Amino acid sequence: MGDYEMSALDAYLNRAFNIIIGLPLTGATTSAFVFTIFKLIGWWPDISMSTLVIYDIINAFYFCYALYLLKTCKDKNGTIKPEKMRQGKYFVGFIVVAQWNCISYMIPDREWWAYLFFFIALTIVFFDIRFTSILTALLLGSTFISWIVNGEYQFLAFDDALFWPTFVLRLFCIGLTVLTLLSITYFGGRYLVEELEKNVNYDTLTHLLNRRSMDKHLNNAYNRAQKGEDTFCLLLLDIDDFKRVNDTYGHDCGDKVLRYVAHAVSTCVKKDDYVFRWGGEEILVLLKTDLERSIPVAERIRREISKDPIVYKKEIKVSVTVTIGVSSYDGERTVAGMIEDADAKLYYGKRHGKNQVVSE
Ligand code: GH3
Ligand code: MG
Ligand code: MG
Repeated sequence: MGDYEMSALDAYLNRAFNIIIGLPLTGATTSAFVFTIFKLIGWWPDISMSTLVIYDIINAFYFCYALYLLKTCKDKNGTIKPEKMRQGKYFVGFIVVAQWNCISYMIPDREWWAYLFFFIALTIVFFDIRFTSILTALLLGSTFISWIVNGEYQFLAFDDALFWPTFVLRLFCIGLTVLTLLSITYFGGRYLVEELEKNVNYDTLTHLLNRRSMDKHLNNAYNRAQKGEDTFCLLLLDIDDFKRVNDTYGHDCGDKVLRYVAHAVSTCVKKDDYVFRWGGEEILVLLKTDLERSIPVAERIRREISKDPIVYKKEIKVSVTVTIGVSSYDGERTVAGMIEDADAKLYYGKRHGKNQVVSE
C-alpha cells in the first residue's frame, strides 16, 4: 500500500511511527535506570522495592517489545504495516497506564502529579480522541487513588494554611490542562487531516487539484457517463507564449500569471466541475455537461483571461491569452482518448493563431 491509498492521518502516522514508539521507549528506559539508582544509593529509602522491581520489569518488557516493533514494522516498500501500527498504538497505551500506575504510588514527591501531563501528551501523537480520552480517564483515576493512598507525600499538612488553596489550584491546573490536551487531540487531528489532504490533493502554487487526485474524478465521471447517468467534457487549456512572459518579466511574474489564470478558470466553472493543474502551464477542466453547453464555458474562460492585462509590481502590465481544446464524451473514446483529442485540438488552435477555443 503506497501513501496514495492511505488516509492523510495514516500517512502522518506512518512517518511518525519511529518517534511514537521511540519517545516512550527512551522515557521508560531512562526513568527505570534513574529510579533504580536513586533507590540503590539511598536517596529514596521510602520507595517500595517490590513496586520498583515491577516497574523495571515493565520497562524491560517495553524496551524489548519496542525494539521488536521497530525492527519488524515495515513491509518491503518501507511502509509501516497496519497491524504493527495498531500493536504499537495499544502498546504505548498499555505502557503509559502501567508506568503511571507504578510511579504515581512509588514517587515520594508532592509535585509528582504534574508528570501526568507528560503521559497524556504521549498519547496525543495518534490524534485519536477516543483513545486519548480513555487513557486520560485511566491516568486521572490512578492519580486520584494515589493521592488517597499516599496522602502524606502528596499534600501539605491538613492544618497548613495553604492546604486548601494549593489543593484547589492543583485541581484547576489538572482540569484546564486535560481539557486543553483533549482539545488539541480532537481539533489538531481534524486540522491535520484537512491540511494533509490538501497537500496530497492540491497543487501548492495554483491551489488547483493536482494530477494525483485527477484519475479518481475522471474515472467517476467516465463511469457515470457509461451508465448513461451523466455526460461530461474535458477542456485542455494552455497559456499562449508563456515562455516569453517568463523570459521578459521573470519566473516570479510567470508564477503570478499562472495563479491568476488558475483563479480565473476556477471562477468561470460551476461548483461540481473540477479544475486540475495538468502540467506546467496547462490546465484540465472536467465539466459535467455536454458539448453544446461546454463551448460557451470555454469561451467565457478565454474572454475572462484576455479581458484585462495582469498587473505585476504595480506598473508592469502583462497581457495573457489562452488556447483551449474541448473534447466531449461520445460513448466510444476512453478518458485517455478524450485527453488526446483535446490535446490535438489545442495544438490545432496553437498553429492557427492561438487565443481561441477549438471544439471540432
Ligand atoms: P505556446 O503558445 O505554444 O503554448 O508557447 P509557450 O511559450 O507557452 O510554450 P509552452 O506551452 O511549451 O511553454 C511552457 C513554459 O511554461 C515553459 C516553462 O518555462 C513555463 N512554466 C511551466 N511551469 C511553470 C511554472 O510553474 N512557473 C512558471 N513561471 N513558468 C512555468
Ligand atoms: Mg504548455
Ligand atoms: Mg503555452
